[in-house]
Amino acid sequence: MRLTFMGTAGARFMVARQVAASGGLFIEDGNTRISLDPGPGAVVQYAQRKIDLTTLDAIVVSHRHLDHVGDVNVMIEAMTDGGFSHRGRLFCPSDALDEDPVVLKYLRRFPQEIVRLAPETSYSVNGLTFTTSGRHVHQVETYGFRFGHRLGWITDSAYYEGIAEQHQADVMLIHTILMHCRPDLPHLCIDDAERIIREAKPRLAILTHYGMAVWQANPQEIAADLTHRIGTEVQAARDGMSLEL
Ligand SMILES: [Zn+2]
Ligand SMILES: [Zn+2]
Repeated sequence: MRLTFMGTAGARFMVARQVAASGGLFIEDGNTRISLDPGPGAVVQYAQRKIDLTTLDAIVVSHRHLDHVGDVNVMIEAMTDGGFSHRGRLFCPSDALDEDPVVLKYLRRFPQEIVRLAPETSYSVNGLTFTTSGRHVHQVETYGFRFGHRLGWITDSAYYEGIAEQHQADVMLIHTILMHCRPDLPHLCIDDAERIIREAKPRLAILTHYGMAVWQANPQEIAADLTHRIGTEVQAARDGMSLEL
């Protein structure tokens, strides 16, 4: 399985200025290709890497915030060859489809299937299985994911009891928006990331989805410091970084 970071920017200021890209994650496993959280500019990131979006098998959305779904509609069109090819699946929380939807109604008939995500449920795309976490502590309906024991993806959330265990995997991605914890904001800070890594003990933890303060503090240095303190390898994702899992 190959994972590529189509962006590492998190939240509105980083995304609005495109300080880093915000195209989400791309997973390839054999012939299976999945786009996760195609945020603003995702279609550009895929095009720049010459990835043929008509070969995508699924688009998975963790939650309806703009930095995660900005390009979901154009990605659905691309996956379905402009709507002419009835193929591919969209997985998203129900509130991405219901009131104030982020998935446009006119293109909902383009994919083969639209699946409403439920907590702690497994789904399979072309033989690649992934499992949702419990509902994250966030402003909207949000789920994290585990791809077997290979990859755990902790998308936006405040810290909660069980978050480490629910995403436990060999390699874990952690969305670290905040430099310092703020009880008024439902996001993970660097101290939360450290706590999660200590609890889950992955082989490799990767920080991504940086807020502006984390970016300005230099994610690479933060990761090196965490590695030193915890004794688990921690990396900071860079746009375009790719790794085999
Ligand atoms: Zn976000
Ligand atoms: Zn969010």
